[in-house]
Amino acid sequence: MHACRGSLTERGVIFMAKNSNWHELSESFNIQDDTKGAKTVLEWSFNNFHEDKIIYASSFGAEAIVLIDLISQVKPDASIVFLDTGLHFPETYEVIDRIEERFKDLKIERKLPDLSLDEQREQYGSALWKREPNKCCEIRKVIPLREALMPMDAWISGLRREQSPTRANTDFFNEDKKFRNIKICPLIHWTWDEVWTYIHERDLPYNSLHDQGYPSIGCFPCTQAVAVGADSRAGRWSGTGKTECGLHTE
Ligand code: SF4
Repeated sequence: MHACRGSLTERGVIFMAKNSNWHELSESFNIQDDTKGAKTVLEWSFNNFHEDKIIYASSFGAEAIVLIDLISQVKPDASIVFLDTGLHFPETYEVIDRIEERFKDLKIERKLPDLSLDEQREQYGSALWKREPNKCCEIRKVIPLREALMPMDAWISGLRREQSPTRANTDFFNEDKKFRNIKICPLIHWTWDEVWTYIHERDLPYNSLHDQGYPSIGCFPCTQAVAVGADSRAGRWSGTGKTECGLHTE
């Protein structure tokens, strides 16, 4: 596996299609270290993808706080994109401000959808998230991420294998056909408890909603608090059958 600087952009999708060794590369990392391989995966990534071609798409949830701290140890001025749907909790915007304050060199972009909330209401009616959440996520998350990833070769994500059955087979490096990119997931082997131990040990800022029963935090219309011990993603699109926003499904 030799994804040298710039090579993926030059060869583009053909390179990805021909390359079948991302799983093999993922398996080659030692996961017995302090970060379960996460830091070495990040070091490899920032050494092998051009710095302008790799971006972290962050939700600023608990995993994100860990990843931001690890990324800043490897690449203090890394690029981060936050999909600003306009429907996040005030606490989410607040934690982004605190992260910007603590990690001053990071380049954090708040990416807006093409449609404002008013325009979405005019075109699709009010509260689209209640009637057609997939359409709403497509407009406010999937299309903006596609635009953000268009010039990139690789994106980083905070997925963990234990989060849900759909994430159980995630590798460190994954061909992402949807966004024609390599999706890098350094935290796949981390448990929820390990995420929180790290946050507390490093005294990192985090979203205060985590202390109020919200393990996974998205847009406020689609996120609810969950009972203690419930599945960490049980509060997302609760009662609709929807489990993913579409960023991690093909
Ligand atoms: S999470 Fe809900 S409000 Fe946010 S984009 Fe998706 S459907 Fe819309």
